[in-house]
Amino acid sequence: MADVVVVGAGNAAFAAAVAAAEQGARVTVLERAPEPLSGGNTRFTAGAMRFAYDGVDDLRRLMPDLTDEEVAATDFGAYPQARFFEDMGRVTDYRTDPDLCETLVTGSRPTMLWMAGKGHRFAPIWGRQAFKVGGRFKFWGGLTVEAVGGGPGLVEAWTKIAAREGIEVLYGARAVSLIAGDAGVTGVRIKQAGRTREIAAGAVVLAAGGFQANTEWRTRYLGPGWDTAKVRGSRFNTGDGLRMALEIGAMSTGQWSGCHAVGWERNAPEFGDLAVGDGFQKHSYPFGVMLNARGERFVDEGADFRNYTYAKYGREILKQPRQFAWQVFDAKVRHLLRDEYRIKQVTKVTAETLEELCAKLEDVDAAAALATLRAYNAAVRTDVAFDPNVKDGRRTEGLAVPKSNWANRLDEPPFEAYAVTCGITFTFGGLRIDATGQVLDVDLAPIGGLYAAGEMVGGLFYENYPGGTGLMAGAVFGRLAGTNAGKMATSL
Ligand SMILES: Cc1cc2nc3c(=O)[nH]c(=O)nc-3n(C[C@H](O)[C@H](O)[C@H](O)COP(=O)(O)OP(=O)(O)OC[C@H]3O[C@@H](n4cnc5c(N)ncnc54)[C@H](O)[C@@H]3O)c2cc1C
Repeated sequence: MADVVVVGAGNAAFAAAVAAAEQGARVTVLERAPEPLSGGNTRFTAGAMRFAYDGVDDLRRLMPDLTDEEVAATDFGAYPQARFFEDMGRVTDYRTDPDLCETLVTGSRPTMLWMAGKGHRFAPIWGRQAFKVGGRFKFWGGLTVEAVGGGPGLVEAWTKIAAREGIEVLYGARAVSLIAGDAGVTGVRIKQAGRTREIAAGAVVLAAGGFQANTEWRTRYLGPGWDTAKVRGSRFNTGDGLRMALEIGAMSTGQWSGCHAVGWERNAPEFGDLAVGDGFQKHSYPFGVMLNARGERFVDEGADFRNYTYAKYGREILKQPRQFAWQVFDAKVRHLLRDEYRIKQVTKVTAETLEELCAKLEDVDAAAALATLRAYNAAVRTDVAFDPNVKDGRRTEGLAVPKSNWANRLDEPPFEAYAVTCGITFTFGGLRIDATGQVLDVDLAPIGGLYAAGEMVGGLFYENYPGGTGLMAGAVFGRLAGTNAGKMATSL
């Protein structure tokens, strides 16, 4: 018997478990994966977390190790709550649930400070979210901080904190169904080492991730073609938590046909590989162009900063013939390419001329590709200055598929190209929760003793997503659910 059982052992689950323990609850965490593969998608991340801050003083409160020299060499800017709201609205076409969004935005900074108070450490993401121009780094995308040690560091820190708080973690323990009666949920049925048993609980928090690793559900809900998408992260997020809740009458909400999906190494394995982490992603396309099998461009690579387009461009790649694209760059922008372009596991070609490069692009109509690149080069507005730190308006003129910012001619050899396909990160559809994190049933009544957090919460994201929001949402809603589950279970 536990006061609170938490299903999952990613960021949302640990935030819930620690918050429940804070209420005096005895907490058991169930992790389906064996310990070496535990930690869900969270472990695959870079640990980047988006939160509202009003200036460098807020950052210094979170990261007391920041030195005066570092502060002097960096323009951290500010990311006020109003901008976070605006970003969530803009990228989701204003479909984000306003109440959930408000909980996320207003809870973001307090939750970061809460995590730091529990023992998490954070650092600025100079490497990926700031470019050095005129001797000074400038953060450009509202995403400034990552957990020290990235996703693996985040999971390791949570595991230590949980142990310190007396939280029990069972590995290889798969929750298979909820035990529920008229009064609500009273426990979980689990399967561990081939044995099925029941664990009674005062409250259950579901934080078992989305259904992105379930081929059949991907095809059923996201549509044709998604069966062959690569899964970027954990193979254990197959929708178990969603299924268990729906089986007892929980209400679904959010965009069940939508997901976060990115450009991902074409020859990556079927599921994420913890040794490579997020290295298979290829996110520097705003500084180049993307070509499909017909040799055509198909998106505005410079429509916005990478943080606001990358999560929807995986879907665009999936729609292309044979579901792949080549990202093409020249030597001018090579220094701007993210570190993931320099790993061993890339499908890459290089050439001294565009003709030679196009001939090397496997599965691509080379003549059409060359014509596209030439037309693109001719359309670049070279009279506008290039600046990677702002939306510089250096664009193409007259192309059917424009490039709106950071358009440079491809004219400095060596040229290089990287093959990508669609990598799915997590699904957007989920459960409907109330302001306390409690799951609602199909009549919109709270299901006694049942809470949800993380990827399982529906209604926040539609079509797109601002980078770094998944971990933040997991922490905010995990803490909310855990606090209320803990209160409920200890008052029984
Ligand atoms: C490669 C990659 C990079 C990313 N980078 C970032 C980033 O930098 N910043 C960011 O904000 N987001 C990032 N994301 C998204 C982020 O990982 C997720 O939004 C976030 O981790 C979700 O947290 P969660 O706790 O809901 O799910 P998860 O961390 O996936 O945890 C789900 C847990 O549930 C367990 N589970 C599943 N089924 C069961 C069951 N039946 N019984 C028991 N346990 C079960 C899983 O094993 C896992 O432990 C990235 C994702 C990937 C894949």
